[in-house]
Amino acid sequence: MTKGKKKKARKAKRHVLVPEPAAHVAQPQPAAAPAPARLGIMGGTFDPVHAGHLACARAAAQQLQLDQVLFIPANIPVFKLDQPITPAKHRVALLKRALKDQPGFALDTCEIDRGGKTYTAETLRQLRERYPRTTQFVLITGADAALTLPQWKDAADIAYLAEIAAVARPGSPVDQSSEDYQALMAQFSVHWVDVETPDISSSQVRSMAAAGQRLDGVVPAQALRYLVKKGLYGATAACFPPEGEGGEGQPASDQPALSPHDPAADPLSLAFYKHIKAQMKSRVDERRFRHIQGVAKTAKRIAKVYGVDPAKARLAGMLHDWDKNFDDQGIRARADQVGLDVEPLVRESMPQTLHGMTAAKALPRDYPCIPADVLQAVSHHTTACTNMSDLDMVVFVADCLEPSRHFERCDELRAMVGNVELEELFFQVLGYWITLIIGRGRTMHPSTVETWNHYALRRSTRRRREREEQGLPPVQINPCAVSE
Ligand code: ATP
Ligand code: MG
Repeated sequence: MTKGKKKKARKAKRHVLVPEPAAHVAQPQPAAAPAPARLGIMGGTFDPVHAGHLACARAAAQQLQLDQVLFIPANIPVFKLDQPITPAKHRVALLKRALKDQPGFALDTCEIDRGGKTYTAETLRQLRERYPRTTQFVLITGADAALTLPQWKDAADIAYLAEIAAVARPGSPVDQSSEDYQALMAQFSVHWVDVETPDISSSQVRSMAAAGQRLDGVVPAQALRYLVKKGLYGATAACFPPEGEGGEGQPASDQPALSPHDPAADPLSLAFYKHIKAQMKSRVDERRFRHIQGVAKTAKRIAKVYGVDPAKARLAGMLHDWDKNFDDQGIRARADQVGLDVEPLVRESMPQTLHGMTAAKALPRDYPCIPADVLQAVSHHTTACTNMSDLDMVVFVADCLEPSRHFERCDELRAMVGNVELEELFFQVLGYWITLIIGRGRTMHPSTVETWNHYALRRSTRRRREREEQGLPPVQINPCAVSE
């Protein structure tokens, strides 16, 4: 490969994020895929990407024999200068997730990397540099966008550099026989792609998100998870498929006899548990789900040891991180949504500690059958409180001791299960947890500090009384010896 060609290949590699950009290598290497003969270019604001975009590109790819389609998000779309646009990093993150499982589709960030106002003619010139002459470009546009082509900067150049595809768009007054389309044809050589794409736009998605409407099937699943996590467009967990309506991973069989949303459903049945587990799986990533499964199992085991209801412990363990899928901004929005009164300090500097409390507030709305003590254990597992029930302690301890956690004192603390009272086990685990927070220089929730003082005082009072009962003198602490 010549120096110039190597430079071009490197340049191509920098822009295309998904999948690997082997197609841009000018001189194919033995293992590399050949440059595409026909390359689709799907520009847009993608604020956010939705099912209509994917359907539009897929139809063009099929009907116009495209080998690959590049999705190129605009940096500053010149036709939308009067409206706020979501930062590029979010639009890119959403697209990246939406294209993950789409064969033949790839993300290209050249317009964002270039910066400034986005002009398609410039993009095509840049791509022309990166691809061999044998690659024919096909610019994919929805019918509405196609009609505006004559107003695009250097429109004649665009027509020279690429074939144009106009994809039918529901609600658009343009079709193949319309006058507008005929006028367009006179100026550009346009392929009409006849297809029924979903009747949806990014503007609609933004409004739906703000109104807390469901977006499953409208925004691709992985992208939707990100959108909700970041609270983009005001999206909340309400935009997810409602629990119980066949969310990802939910087995078709094993449905509880009653709907899990029925107040009379049995929350401690295996069927209910399996339903919740399937829902949980679709809410969090794999690593988090492994942890949650570990907590559920460990909570059940510890509950049996201390005479606590194991079915409740398992359910609370499975539910404890129900709201763990939000980032800081998202969990604050969630707290507002469920009507949680949050102290400013917590809201600002430790919003993640809210996830137990928000879950406990949100869950009964969808699952009125969940017992109050299970919800309380979910609520208390993050910060703890001064009136921990046995079930609360079991879940708190299981969260720390479940098998996927590895830390210095884990063997020592795990060995205490069954060998010390439950309150002592909780106290030791809480102490370890607090040391960890202090060691990391983190802020501590006021409730955790209060809990520590409360249980430390109870413990020392109990010990003093025990010594008195045994006729032993109180323990004397010699401060000089401590400092020696
Ligand atoms: P907005 O409402 O913010 O304008 P949008 O849904 O139109 O968003 P854009 O990013 O503006 O999305 O569109 C990118 C390209 O995708 C355009 O060419 C547009 O015509 C096309 N497109 C968008 N949605 C559809 C759809 N449902 N069917 C066909 N084409 C579509
Ligand atoms: Mg549009």
